Amino acid sequence: MDRRTFFVLLGVPGAGKGTQAKMLEEHLGLPQVSTGDLFRYNLKNSTSLGQLAKSYMDKGELVPDEVTIQMVEDRLGMDDAARGAILDGFPRNLMQAEAFDEMTAPFGGVSLVPLITLSDEEAMRRITGRRVCRSCGAVYHIEFNPPSREGICDRDAGELYQRDDDSEETVRNRLYVYYKQTSPLIGYYYAKKLLAELDGGLSIEQVQGRLMELLAEKEIA
Ligand code: ADP
Ligand code: AMP
Ligand code: ZN
Repeated sequence: MDRRTFFVLLGVPGAGKGTQAKMLEEHLGLPQVSTGDLFRYNLKNSTSLGQLAKSYMDKGELVPDEVTIQMVEDRLGMDDAARGAILDGFPRNLMQAEAFDEMTAPFGGVSLVPLITLSDEEAMRRITGRRVCRSCGAVYHIEFNPPSREGICDRDAGELYQRDDDSEETVRNRLYVYYKQTSPLIGYYYAKKLLAELDGGLSIEQVQGRLMELLAEKEIA
């Protein structure tokens, strides 16, 4: 069988999924597949998918399953995902989780689901202070992970910006949507013995260390 490795990073918005996915990407040589990033890329390029996604993203609601699932399927068909991928922000409800199981079944299914836990208060602090590089997508925090020069990316000197949906009001709804639609996936993956909980309140380096230990335990890396 063509066995592939698929990690699904779960956790509230702001838990650190993107930050850890980028580190894992370098360490494991598997691409980060972030559905949020894919929607933002489509939005920037004014595709019809981007236009459709915008109204949902602005409110912090989920983009309809059909288009989201198709977008992931297309992404996983690309060459760089031939050995698997690190999923960040997908699946986000049971329908997507079931579709993902089907999609990955020929390759041995989902390998592991790290759940990064964090309180709502801390998530709010993290998201409202988040800044993203316009050119390379690197993620910073004005207080917890600042760039060496304010407003400028360390990697490529790109301009840092604040996402439209990182306002306090939209974050409140994104947290609500997470508890209502995404948190049932915790039980779903627990039942499949794929769930591994990590304390997201630790430093970026400590969370990364725990993730590495976890992969070593599971003999994945
Ligand atoms: P998610 O992808 O889960 O929404 P991000 O990885 O974008 O979360 O992280 C949200 C914000 O919190 C970013 O500004 C990031 O720099 C910061 N951050 C991520 N992990 C940590 C951590 N362990 N400690 C402090 N800040 C963090
Ligand atoms: P994120 O970058 O993960 O914080 O996602 C930003 C926004 O993109 C979300 O608030 C949703 O509107 C949309 N989105 C991202 N991933 C998904 C998904 N798997 N299903 C539906 N909508 C999504
Ligand atoms: Zn950059």
